[in-house]
Amino acid sequence: QAKDKGRNTYQKYRYEMNSKHAKRIKIECDLRKAIEFQEFEVYYQPQTDADTGKVVCMEALVRWNHPELGVVLPSEFIPVAEETGLIINIGEWVLREACRQTKEWQEAGYNHIKISVNLSARQFQQENLVETVSSILRECGLDANYLVLEITETVSMQNIDFVVRTLKELNELGIQVSIDDFGTGYSSLLYLKSFPIQSLKIDRSFIRDIIDDTDDAAIASAIIAMAHNLKLKVVAEGVETEEQLKYLKENHCDNFQGYLFSKPVPAEEFEKKFMSKRS
Ligand code: C2E
Ligand code: MG
Ligand code: MG
Ligand code: MG
Repeated sequence: QAKDKGRNTYQKYRYEMNSKHAKRIKIECDLRKAIEFQEFEVYYQPQTDADTGKVVCMEALVRWNHPELGVVLPSEFIPVAEETGLIINIGEWVLREACRQTKEWQEAGYNHIKISVNLSARQFQQENLVETVSSILRECGLDANYLVLEITETVSMQNIDFVVRTLKELNELGIQVSIDDFGTGYSSLLYLKSFPIQSLKIDRSFIRDIIDDTDDAAIASAIIAMAHNLKLKVVAEGVETEEQLKYLKENHCDNFQGYLFSKPVPAEEFEKKFMSKRS
């Protein structure tokens, strides 16, 4: 009996291992063809301004419409894309598509809002990153002032001189840079001072328990105060409730992003819900 049970557990374990492993291999394999087969789509999530309540920016978030698996979320394929280096091509595709869409909305006479695009550490290491970004902007005809690039604190573990130089070059083009998932990474404070960046996004994990956990509340308000002293704007990510919003407003957070306002949505839906004609 015990032996049988042991065997069943083992079988189940093996089955799960195999299916998990098989899925990972399938993802890696299919990922190579996904750009060519046009299976990626950019979703957009609004960021609202604390003073006006208006949408001032939108974050581009990639989705993979897999022919058999359905919609695959970034958490399932971005790590694979990073390991294999495929993130370079995928990231470039997302940037181009997001800039193209933003320009299209501007041309159609909608209010001009910024587009914020995630860059992986691996993309940031690329020698020709600045050239690539500026040629995409040129190609799309989008003014650099409308582009924000989100990087994570992991880039600060790379060669600091290279990082600072790259950030300066991006700034000189008119592009703004934001530190994403702030507070979860490494050596945040030391580098904040030397990095020419314009904003930071407080990680969702601090926002989640802001109402019940006094430590998280203290951390969030301290991050906002510190960022403002460094002349940085602050975006709170993962805002889900009115109570969280109220707390963040009282603590002078500049912009809000989260399910309270909207989940990331496809372009057509974003246009219907959040774009308004210029007055
Ligand atoms: P991120 O850049 O921190 O993006 C925010 C994530 O939080 C998104 O998940 C978004 O859907 C989710 N989110 C926003 N508001 C809420 C909320 O109120 N509650 C909850 N529970 N979640 C919320 P998503 O789209 O699954 O993306 C996950 C991560 O994948 C992103 O985190 C980013 O690191 C990465 N990613 C997504 N698109 C790209 C891309 O084009 N390039 C790169 N390099 N990374 C990307
Ligand atoms: Mg982001
Ligand atoms: Mg984030
Ligand atoms: Mg995050």
